[in-house]
Amino acid sequence: MNKTKAYSAASATSPLSLDTIHRREATAHDVQIEILFCGICHSDLHTVRDEWNSVMPTTYPCVPGHEIVGRVTGIGSAVTHFKTGDLVGVGCLVDSDQSCPNCQADVEQFCPGATFTYNSPDKHLGGVTYGGYSENIVVDEKFVLHVPDNLEPAGVAPLLCAGITTYSPIRRWGDIKGKKVGVVGLGGLGHMGVKFARAFGAHVVVFTTSPGKKEDALRLGAHEVIISTNPDEMQEHAGTFDFILDTISADHDINAYIGMLGLDGNITLVGAPEKPLAVSAFALLFGRKSLSGSLIGGIKETQEMLDFCGRHNITSDVEIIPINKVNEAYVLLFRRLVTYRFSIDMASLKSE
Ligand code: NAP
Ligand code: ZN
Repeated sequence: MNKTKAYSAASATSPLSLDTIHRREATAHDVQIEILFCGICHSDLHTVRDEWNSVMPTTYPCVPGHEIVGRVTGIGSAVTHFKTGDLVGVGCLVDSDQSCPNCQADVEQFCPGATFTYNSPDKHLGGVTYGGYSENIVVDEKFVLHVPDNLEPAGVAPLLCAGITTYSPIRRWGDIKGKKVGVVGLGGLGHMGVKFARAFGAHVVVFTTSPGKKEDALRLGAHEVIISTNPDEMQEHAGTFDFILDTISADHDINAYIGMLGLDGNITLVGAPEKPLAVSAFALLFGRKSLSGSLIGGIKETQEMLDFCGRHNITSDVEIIPINKVNEAYVLLFRRLVTYRFSIDMASLKSE
């Protein structure tokens, strides 16, 4: 086992602070990675504060981080797809059983034996897995991704969660070229949803509660912006959308957005609020509308997304911070004030 520095939370109410954790020695199939950047996802905040207790209770200490970009520093004897020096990514998944129908269908995120990057039972060391707010990580090569060389690593990190989580449902919807697509909430996921929907040719409309984000939404690729707290602006677009991606992290009235859909329209939830949302049956019945959910994406699709980003020069808009600013970053995240993802420069952990 190797000791490594990390930032962890000791309880749901503790700030994140410097800690020492252990990483396993690389086995034959493992890739050893020095972490360069790690994005801060709202799921990190939900988990650290144990907001998902009823579904996935948090085990402490908790080392979050599943938007990891790093450099390969060593490989096991059986590793064939990576070599020392490669720029690589690790997202929300670090293992699965590789044999169940979901793994065979390339949707390992739905494998009953999936191991998530943090707060998941660790099959090698016992306890739970520790995420990317750390100096290095050891991952089975099947769960390591190639990062296109032309992209800035700091802005690539958020693609590993925010990127794939928005890319996957947009692709699954079908050909969105010329369709009217809404993105609800302009945060880490939302701003990537705007970039992908625009790249696939949709007419993109952002719903935001933050009037100050309007200019940014247009710069990021939206054609129109609706201030969702303004009933007149909402009413003007009622019943006109083909597809809406809802990225809101907190409780909200989803029926207001179902009302924006046209006949057979679909709203897909990717945001994961702590409490259940109240859905009006009638809002769905009239217009034969559907409500779906989507969880990250499989490894194959994540690689496809990264390659797409490489070809189209797509990265996340990031604010780079040192690790000791992480607690301040969480406050800004909670207050909807991130533009549009924090990416932690993990070199800053070396001097802690
Ligand atoms: P984020 O950067 O904080 O963005 C969330 C956005 O939602 C905010 O910027 C804000 O946008 C809007 N919002 C926040 N609170 C709101 C409220 N009370 N009412 C209305 N709008 C509100 O978070 P994120 O990292 O994008 O994550 C978003 C959610 O997706 C989180 O719940 C996260 O856990 C979840 N998630 C799910 C998956 C998955 O696989 N399904 C993967 C990653 C994350 P405006 O300022 O524009 O209104
Ligand atoms: Zn995430």
